[in-house]
Amino acid sequence: MTTLKAQTASCPLCEAAVPVPADVMQGEVLACDDCGAELEVQTIDPLALAEAPEVAEDWGE
Ligand SMILES: [Zn+2]
Repeated sequence: MTTLKAQTASCPLCEAAVPVPADVMQGEVLACDDCGAELEVQTIDPLALAEAPEVAEDWGE
């Protein structure tokens, strides 16, 4: 059994630690539990998040 190490990145807005899945991909959008912001994964290595652009079309619902 493989242990996936949980990682976190800091929210660019409120600096809370945002949990990031071990298999996260660049461009993936995560939500900050603290301030509710949508954060896009800019780069994997180093792990960096940025506020996701607010485009309200076709967000896969
Ligand atoms: Zn936040």
